Amino acid sequence: MVVYQGKGVYGAVAVGKVSVFSRSSADVRRVNVNDTEKELLRVEAAKEMAAQQLEEIHSKALKEVGEANAEIFEVHLMMLDDEDYNDSIKSIIETQKVNAEYAVAVTADNFAEMFSSMDDAYMQARAADVKDISDRLISCLTGGGKTENSSDEKMIICADDLAPSETVSLDKDKVLAFVTAFGSSNSHTAILARNMNIPAVISAGEDFLKNIHDGDMLIVDGHTGQLIVSPDDVTIAKYTAKQAEDARKKQLLQELKGKENITLDGRKINIFANIGGVGSIGAVLANDAGGIGLFRSEFLYLESEDYPTEEQQFSAYRKVLESMAGKKVIIRTLDIGADKQIDYFGLEKEDNPALGLRAVRICLTRPEIFKTQLRALYRASAFGDLGIMFPMITSVAEVEKCLAVCEEVKAELKSDGIRFNENTEIGIMIETPAAAVISDLLAPLVDFFSVGTNDLTQYTLACDRQNAKLEPFVDTHHEAVLRLIEMAANNAHKNGTWIGICGELAADLTLTETFMRMGIDELSVSPPYVLPLREKVRSLDLSR
Ligand code: PEP
Ligand code: MG
Repeated sequence: MVVYQGKGVYGAVAVGKVSVFSRSSADVRRVNVNDTEKELLRVEAAKEMAAQQLEEIHSKALKEVGEANAEIFEVHLMMLDDEDYNDSIKSIIETQKVNAEYAVAVTADNFAEMFSSMDDAYMQARAADVKDISDRLISCLTGGGKTENSSDEKMIICADDLAPSETVSLDKDKVLAFVTAFGSSNSHTAILARNMNIPAVISAGEDFLKNIHDGDMLIVDGHTGQLIVSPDDVTIAKYTAKQAEDARKKQLLQELKGKENITLDGRKINIFANIGGVGSIGAVLANDAGGIGLFRSEFLYLESEDYPTEEQQFSAYRKVLESMAGKKVIIRTLDIGADKQIDYFGLEKEDNPALGLRAVRICLTRPEIFKTQLRALYRASAFGDLGIMFPMITSVAEVEKCLAVCEEVKAELKSDGIRFNENTEIGIMIETPAAAVISDLLAPLVDFFSVGTNDLTQYTLACDRQNAKLEPFVDTHHEAVLRLIEMAANNAHKNGTWIGICGELAADLTLTETFMRMGIDELSVSPPYVLPLREKVRSLDLSR
């Protein structure tokens, strides 16, 4: 029994045999040819075959993962017809007198390199797409589709990485799970795996790939990212029990999709989802969340080697807004410092970082960073229903300063003739006791509050949330925290401001009734908790 650790991107368990994914296009060789005309005709025929395959994949994806996620295959179809791409293949065949496969492979490398070197994150991501369509084209040139599991048994697909089209093309009925040695959790593949409800682990590492073979027995734990090769009977039994629990939850998911978050006596509440990046939208949609209550934008900065540009941020925010198709998306401005350190910010080491220069304090002392983010946010506001939220607020002055920067940014965009939504809602997090206590003064300044119970608990109980030794001292239902939430809710409503909760406590089903009785308007939780929470709300009767 050998255990490897990867990153779980879809929380479910699979136990089964391995099928190592291979591509038929792997070994492209350069062959000199005399009849270049024949090679050009071969390319045309292969393009037709590839286009037909892509049409089929697109319709399959539309049914299985929805329009927003299927769109990528329309992009592939367009790329297949791209003039520059086709001119390059043609010119390599004609000038170098080489075989079509080789011309496609060289074109793919050149275009992928060009896309990767662009500043725009969206364009960078196109590098994987151009490789994907080129692989397909080469595969069609060599007479077939891509290699798939030909046996009838359901298998765990292990690969170095999977392109989006490869993920969707795999016969879902024959796939138990996906494991990739590389890949990022924001890749389309990870999004698709989540949406297809297939357990998936990425970043398993090169060693895993080297040591895994067709037919090996494997356990994939998509919750923890653990991979257990050749498990013993006791381990198999343990994971089979975990699977049964997942199946129960899946059932719940199916039954509650599309239903209202309404109590037995008719009270409604919004249930939104928390995300850390564009890659989680699939899970938000799959779990039928009513919106995004917290997009922790700092992950864009954490995943980057340098300050993300306005363009990179804009394209990420726009993507989230467009994917949510008019549903509310609340994006929190940068919340770094404390446990989230980023080297390129060059922040000084502090003795008490949780009480130090973090979140909005950094933004207000580094206005150029703040303004770049706000410009990206306001530009994105034209593409959906955006709410902008400021973290770690402790005073009226901080909110006023944030609002002043918003006004500056809006004036700039106006004079630049850039479209944005004037009525973008502005909110603040209530995650310090100070903010809760002066919530009567803060409420008139903003459209909404969102309670960050993780920090509110840490600061109210004076218990560092990073320190595991303090767990016995942390009463998550502490009356002080609950009173602060209630105080904020009352002050919000007196001023026509709405209030949500986006900390972990929002998913605590033993508190759902308490929160609803306080009049909380929205609970925002990790995507897998949306439906259990809906079930809880639907079981409550607040008239009693
Ligand atoms: C919180 O503090 O409750 C919160 C939602 O923010 P984070 O966990 O990102 O600090
Ligand atoms: Mg917080």
